[in-house]
Amino acid sequence: MESDLGPLESIRPEAGRRRLPVSGESLRPLVSPGAVNALLADPIRDGDAAWMARALERAREAWILGEVPVGAVVVRDGCLLAEGGNRTLRWNDPSAHAEVVALRRAGRRTGAARLPGTSLYVTLEPCAQCAGALVLARVDRLVFGAPDPKAGMVGSLGNLVQDPRLNHRMAVTPGVLAQACARLLRDFFRERRRR
Ligand SMILES: [Zn+2]
Repeated sequence: MESDLGPLESIRPEAGRRRLPVSGESLRPLVSPGAVNALLADPIRDGDAAWMARALERAREAWILGEVPVGAVVVRDGCLLAEGGNRTLRWNDPSAHAEVVALRRAGRRTGAARLPGTSLYVTLEPCAQCAGALVLARVDRLVFGAPDPKAGMVGSLGNLVQDPRLNHRMAVTPGVLAQACARLLRDFFRERRRR
């Protein structure tokens, strides 16, 4: 039977597989010891709270759609370029986090895969995927609300957006409207547990 996956199915699973570490052997840590949580934090600027409030609106919208409430906006020269909320369930897409949704829209709108000169505001500290996407997009500045101790890769578990070994780094301002951003998530998960 023809499958949507096409040639993927005919590739042997062994092909291209890397050697797995043998027992007792460990993988090298992503960041050298002592630098794991290093985050060079920039101060809050005028307008940050207003843009974060807008990202919070996108997060609340995501909640109404049954998604984990995270929202993001992309700003350039003080103007809104694109925005988005978490859509992983709606779109059956594990990559459809708010940051990626907003970056894709910004790329389409500007007709470019890279977004230099932009700031991205997001209500929750980005995960590994989204931190990587921010680096690939060459975003200048990241502003986030609540920290994510379980999955955050901008200070919590590591710091992908300021790693000197990568070819792009960005300014980061954490903690903008952090209480409101965290409260929204807490209320969402509390309500979900009750059901
Ligand atoms: Zn993410």
